[in-house]
Amino acid sequence: MTTALITHTDCLKHLTPTGHPERVDRLKTLLELFDEPSFKHLPRHEAPLCTIEQVERAHRPGYYNHIARLEPQSGFASVDGDTHMSPDSLQAAQRAAGANVLAVDLVLTGQYTNAFCAVRPPGHHAEAAQAMGFCLFSNVIIGAHQALSVHQLERVAIVDFDVHHGNGTSDLAWHDERIFFASTHESPLFPGTGLAHEVGAHGQIVNVPLKSQTGNEDFKRAMETQVLPALANHRPQCIFISAGFDAHWRDPLATLRWTDDIYGWATEAICDVADRCCDGRVISSLEGGYDLDGLRDSVAAHLQALMQRSR
Ligand SMILES: [Zn+2]
Repeated sequence: MTTALITHTDCLKHLTPTGHPERVDRLKTLLELFDEPSFKHLPRHEAPLCTIEQVERAHRPGYYNHIARLEPQSGFASVDGDTHMSPDSLQAAQRAAGANVLAVDLVLTGQYTNAFCAVRPPGHHAEAAQAMGFCLFSNVIIGAHQALSVHQLERVAIVDFDVHHGNGTSDLAWHDERIFFASTHESPLFPGTGLAHEVGAHGQIVNVPLKSQTGNEDFKRAMETQVLPALANHRPQCIFISAGFDAHWRDPLATLRWTDDIYGWATEAICDVADRCCDGRVISSLEGGYDLDGLRDSVAAHLQALMQRSR
């Protein structure tokens, strides 16, 4: 079984103001990467639009309509200080969440071992009733609920190696003992949450704050001593990755010092746990990563590692 690549050109229609780091070129860069010889043979699927019901399994009732009403007819609407919507943003956000729903359906029915969702807007800052940090819907939590509700899994896990704390994922997983969540992130940094004592209502959340300038080795140690043992202990039946690539040394929004190859290592380490717990089932979804060269090379390393596991 191979790795599925899930994306949609509607995700290019979510526009942000000039100079905004979360821009169309990020996904264009990845679509060019996917046409290179190493990746062009990968099976691709178009992300469906997620439904209101799927959004509201994760978010508060009425949240979908709240976001839909914010969409402007022209120009931009400000959702919060750094989160904007353009006329096609709702559709892009529905594709981004829908990609995760489809990935769950494909992987849990055994059609693929793992999947990568190349989507935007990202999702891990979107809280139960609040869009923020460039995120509208919690793409990964919407996928997790598809696995729990429709495929009737009992335990899932989410590992978030984006440089920012996944406060939205934490908010939506906080009271749900079925959902393990681990985040490594630079601290102090936006959004300011994710301290080590934030462990969730059932102790199923692991936060590992990392100091500015942390490089590959300290991240590896954090994964090996804190994240991976707790992940395995949860015995997930499917593992999601909130795959942000903004801890890369080139990234303009943060000051960690990771290199491309650490993303291959982290992916392999997570896949090792998945091999032991859940037949290798891993679903990865793009979050941040704002330097185009850093993003391209890091995603290449991540995808290569996923493909190695699905041979
Ligand atoms: Zn980020």
